[in-house]
Amino acid sequence: MKTIEDLDVAGKRVFVRADLNVPLDGTTITDDGRIRAVAPTIAKLVERGARVVVASHLGRPKGAPDPKFSLAPAAVRLGEILGKNVAFATDTVGESAESTVAALDDGEVALLENLRFNAGETSKDDAERKAFAEQLAALADLYVGDGFGAVHRKHASVYDLPGLLPHAAGDLIATEVGVLKKLTEEVARPYVVVLGGAKVSDKLGVIDNLLKKADRILIGGGMAYTFLKAKGHEVGISLLQEDQIPVVLDYLKRAEETGVEFVLPVDVLVSAEFPDLKTKAPANPELVAADAIPADQEGLDIGPKTRELYAAKLADAGTVFWNGPMGVFEHPDYANGTKAVAQALLDSDAFTVVGGGDSAAAVRILGFDENAFGHISTGGGASLEYLEGKTLPGLAALEG
Ligand code: ADP
Ligand code: MG
Repeated sequence: MKTIEDLDVAGKRVFVRADLNVPLDGTTITDDGRIRAVAPTIAKLVERGARVVVASHLGRPKGAPDPKFSLAPAAVRLGEILGKNVAFATDTVGESAESTVAALDDGEVALLENLRFNAGETSKDDAERKAFAEQLAALADLYVGDGFGAVHRKHASVYDLPGLLPHAAGDLIATEVGVLKKLTEEVARPYVVVLGGAKVSDKLGVIDNLLKKADRILIGGGMAYTFLKAKGHEVGISLLQEDQIPVVLDYLKRAEETGVEFVLPVDVLVSAEFPDLKTKAPANPELVAADAIPADQEGLDIGPKTRELYAAKLADAGTVFWNGPMGVFEHPDYANGTKAVAQALLDSDAFTVVGGGDSAAAVRILGFDENAFGHISTGGGASLEYLEGKTLPGLAALEG
């Protein structure tokens, strides 16, 4: 894979596919980690006299403009981080983009509006995607792929566009891939994996590969309930992926055969209602054993015994990969499980990798020092698919 050092960027329009998919509360960015992570690449290009055209997706708009998902706040924040003005185009390939890019001088930066305001970006139709990529290609001379959080997507700006322009990987992608590669090679043991979060079906796949690699797998978050159900427990109205139960049972069986330790919650915090994340009004959850969840309640965080258990299982780790919060950490009553795991990572001497947009944001929002972790990945799905051993379209395109 070429790096930006291999490109002659001075005076050239350089398209940087970044991942500025930051969490927003209205128009306020609640965690700017992804913007800070790609800023060094942009700064380097600026310093070398490139005309930098940054593009990204934000959220999941439906292929048409939707002000809720505007990247305008990200342009402001990027400008603050770079310490220079970032021009903002109010469209992606239309008049505003064209004139904004045309007005760029050497060393100046522009951000285009959300790529996903165009149906071509995420289209499953190769021709439609390619047509959009060609429109994007007209805005630049060179391509730098640095949106690690999107490299597992076969999208126009990630997969098709690099094929149309001389290209290289940005520094963020180079770093991310370097760290994940380490986790697939010889690792310091015990290698402990902690999985949680809400995207259960997206995350089960990685276990297949991890069963061959990890020594211990700790399960929390919304994922845990599919495991508890598979073990025959009532999970009430908790997040559940009923159709995945056979897969989960197979994992549990294989873990037993291969000596991988699978650890499930022993107690959980439950409530009949999902908490109000806006007002953060007290949720008054109840603490129950993991095999005694009432039928009308849902599990929203791991309980204190589980926190202690997981901390103990992490204490002697040599390597830790953690993806997915242990509970609905956005509400203070359900943040303790996630806090406990983050603290346990810091207390261990392990090489620690945190993956996942929400997990990374959780670590920072809950007040931990991000520099105290070995690596905080900007990509959740991307890091999981890498560890699954899959070919990532955005990385393959940069290799070519
Ligand atoms: P990541 O972005 O780190 O990969 P996910 O997107 O899969 O993680 O999941 C993050 C979300 O999971 C958070 O918004 C959190 O509130 C939610 N979550 C965690 N535990 C539960 C649970 N028990 N029930 C419902 N949602 C949960
Ligand atoms: Mg997420």
